[in-house]
Amino acid sequence: MRPSSRKKPSPAQQRQEQWRKDRASAQTLRNAYPTAERVNVHLQFQQPTAQRPTAQSFELYPPARAFFEYPCPYGDCDGIFDLGAAIREALGRASTRVEGTLECCGVRPGDGGLKLPCGLRVNYTLAAQYKAEPATRT
Ligand SMILES: [Zn+2]
Repeated sequence: MRPSSRKKPSPAQQRQEQWRKDRASAQTLRNAYPTAERVNVHLQFQQPTAQRPTAQSFELYPPARAFFEYPCPYGDCDGIFDLGAAIREALGRASTRVEGTLECCGVRPGDGGLKLPCGLRVNYTLAAQYKAEPATRT
């Protein structure tokens, strides 16, 4: 099956478009977590081959969007690593450090029009700093 000349966006492009909209409508970190001063998200991909995607790091400050969905680093994959739930929970509890692993559930085009599950795994680390609370005097 040869790629046709249709202008229809690929699933990966559609996913990317939806992602941009979601990101644009997310509230800022300052609104969502007023005490959070700085949030660092580090993504370390696990792949047993030489083509392992490079690690990614994101620094978020109060004016940034509190949006924690990261598209799979494979350009032909329509998957997104959604760290939103884990990070919202961590920030809600004022945790300073959270680690976990997620697996990409997107699909990538294979030979002969096959769709192959991506399955890329990522180790994520969240490190957050909060504004110092004034000490309670008794
Ligand atoms: Zn993927």
